[in-house]
Amino acid sequence: MTEMTRAQIAEFFRRLQALNPAPQTELTFSNPYTLLVAVVLSAQATDKSVNQATGPLFAAADTPQKMIALGEDRVRDMIKTIGLYRNKAKNVIALSQQLLTEHEGVVPRAREALEALPGVGRKTANVVLNAAFGEKTIAVDTHLFRVANRTGLAPGKTPIEVETRLMARVPDAFLQHAHHWLILHGRYTCVARKPKCEICPVADLCRYPEKNVTTSRVPAGAPQRPRRRAAPPRPRRRGSPRDSAR
Ligand code: SF4
Repeated sequence: MTEMTRAQIAEFFRRLQALNPAPQTELTFSNPYTLLVAVVLSAQATDKSVNQATGPLFAAADTPQKMIALGEDRVRDMIKTIGLYRNKAKNVIALSQQLLTEHEGVVPRAREALEALPGVGRKTANVVLNAAFGEKTIAVDTHLFRVANRTGLAPGKTPIEVETRLMARVPDAFLQHAHHWLILHGRYTCVARKPKCEICPVADLCRYPEKNVTTSRVPAGAPQRPRRRAAPPRPRRRGSPRDSAR
């Protein structure tokens, strides 16, 4: 697998930015605490299934205090449509407790403090730092890992390797939203089984040897070349064969 050049990486993000200037997480949340809980619940679950459960959950409890008052049994019941719900309910109560005892009920803006919370790993901490606090972090989930490797953007064998390489290679101007552009690209275009290369806006930059591009169409969002203007008609010389034929 060859890697993209820095110029190609910049062009890659320029195009994704042109199509979606301010990408957002698809998880529903109203404050850093509800974002943290939603991300913890989203492990091995779709954002859609998480949002269906957190609608009623956050209506009942959108702060650590209210979540503890709701209690583990009730939380478990409200999230039972999500995978691993028993363990997740335990973690939601435990992290809420820890936020109250160690952080006055406020979600900390520091990686170490976030990763010390029950059920919170590096990926969750990165999402919270990025989406709640606007930090330039990249959370490597399954979609992002696939896209970074397939395209040659930042090949790596482990999520941390991919994250480190992306942080070093993505131009600073795109770091804030790189995480969401890549996740959305992997979720809707560069999908796992059959990537939609024929509609991919970065197909010509992608280094995936099995990419399925059969036409030479200009991808959506790609900078358009200015069309050549038709050359003005040449003035005819007097006495040219056309003139004399009339
Ligand atoms: S060309 Fe295909 S494999 Fe490459 S990024 Fe686009 S969808 Fe993915």
